[in-house]
Amino acid sequence: METPKREPLLRELKNYLTHLKDVGYTEIPCEAELFANVQQQATQPTLSSNKMANNKSLIAVQKELGDCTRCKLSEGRKNIVFGSGNPKADIVFVGEGPGADEDEQGLPFVGRAGKKLTEIIEKGMGLNREKDTYICNIVKCRPPGNRDPEAEEIAACNPFLIQQLKAIKPKVIVALGKPASSTLLGRDVLITKERGTWHEYAGIKLMLTLHPSYLIRFYTLENRKAVHEDMKKVLKELKK
Ligand code: SF4
Repeated sequence: METPKREPLLRELKNYLTHLKDVGYTEIPCEAELFANVQQQATQPTLSSNKMANNKSLIAVQKELGDCTRCKLSEGRKNIVFGSGNPKADIVFVGEGPGADEDEQGLPFVGRAGKKLTEIIEKGMGLNREKDTYICNIVKCRPPGNRDPEAEEIAACNPFLIQQLKAIKPKVIVALGKPASSTLLGRDVLITKERGTWHEYAGIKLMLTLHPSYLIRFYTLENRKAVHEDMKKVLKELKK
C-alpha cells in the first residue's frame, strides 16, 4: 500500500480536532500509557506500512482496555463489546456502538442489523464473516436507548479503535453509517450523499456505506443496490 504523505495526515488530524471542538469538546482525556503510544504512533507514518513493527496484539489491546470506566457509557453496560472476527482480516467493518443484543452477548452485530451485515458479507460479497472480516464499533459500550455516542465518549474510546486497527492492519475499513463515517473522517458526513466514496483513515483505504439497520428500515431497491455497489468496490480493492 502506498505510504501516505504527511500533509493529508495532518489535514485529517486537524479536521478531527476541529470536529471535536465544534461539538463542544475542550480537552482530550489521555492516560500516560496511551499518550506514550500516541507519541510512538506519530513516528510511524501509517498503521499498515510498518508491517514488522512490534505492535500490540488484539489480546494485549483488549487487556489494556480491561474493565474500562473511561467514559460514562460504562455505567449502563452489561458487557464491553470489543470486536470479533479474524485478527488478521483484510477488511474491518466499523459500526457506531453496541445495541441491546450486542450488550447482552458481548459481541458486535448479533441482532437484526448483525444478520443483515452477515448477509451482505456472505451472500453479497461471498466472504466468510468470521474468517475473512473483523467487526467492531467506535464505542465499545452500549449508549442508553441506542442514542448516538457523544463526542466525549467517542474520544475516550478512540485510542482503542486505533490500536485495534494497528494490530489488524487491514487493507480496507468499511464505515457503517453516519456516526462511524463522521468519527473516522473527523467531520459531519452526509452518508446518503457520500456513501460509495473512498477516503483514508490513518493510511488505510476507507469506504463509507449505509448502516445495515438503515437498510432494514428503508429496504428499497435503490438502497440495496447502493450497498451492493459499495461492496463491489471494496472487493475490487481487496483483490489489488
Ligand atoms: S465506551 Fe469505550 S471508553 Fe467508554 S467505558 Fe466503554 S470501553 Fe471504555
